[in-house]
Amino acid sequence: MLAIASACSDGDEPLPDGGPVGTPSIDGTPLSTFVGTSCSTGDVIALATQIAEEVNCANPGELVAFEEGPAIMFTGSAVLPYLGEAGRTALYAAADEANGRVLRVTSAFRTVVQQYLLFRWFQQGRCGITAAADPGDSNHESGRALDVSNYSEWIATLDAHGWSHDVPGDPVHFDHLASPDIRGADVLAFQRLWNRNTPADEHIAEDGAYGPMTEAAILRSPAEGFGIGASCAARMIARSARADVPECGL
Ligand SMILES: [Zn+2]
Repeated sequence: MLAIASACSDGDEPLPDGGPVGTPSIDGTPLSTFVGTSCSTGDVIALATQIAEEVNCANPGELVAFEEGPAIMFTGSAVLPYLGEAGRTALYAAADEANGRVLRVTSAFRTVVQQYLLFRWFQQGRCGITAAADPGDSNHESGRALDVSNYSEWIATLDAHGWSHDVPGDPVHFDHLASPDIRGADVLAFQRLWNRNTPADEHIAEDGAYGPMTEAAILRSPAEGFGIGASCAARMIARSARADVPECGL
């Protein structure tokens, strides 16, 4: 009789679920609509969520969602609640020591499309933005950043769990410095989503570098999200094609 191993892979990744869902499309409200009219990156949160999920498809654990709870509250629709796995574990550990406090999160992960809007609004002198990093270069694109509005209540607790209060002049900001800085992964994920949803003659380089082609694509990308979103199945196919990956027979 066969002994069935309880786990038969090199990880706990989900099995392919049938491949990409949807139809290739960039239909929707182009992001350019919001350059001159909006002051909230919440307007592109659906697109940004697809990008965050695509990052995690490429490298599982690199960007995982975290949730509200008794001690964690999101302060608005612009919060994109993703962190690297170690940062999330540390955040939850800090929240477990809340003792009645509530950690008010105003910002966590930020994708290149959100940073693009913030940068343009800053250039225009709009929305009260006094400083903005270049798209692709914000520390909130690192996957290890968190802004907390009631930061003073939380500095000691967060620090005890590896969240450093480390940016002078930016008191709401914390970094989980033991987590990898994944800046650029969001740009690459956007490029992959764009190419997945456009005909070949509109494809752009998948190099993770922000440049004029990527900027032009960002301006045309739909706020509501692409027709085909994140695809972990594409990664699975690439992995199973590798001869050095042991196959599971079960
Ligand atoms: Zn910040």
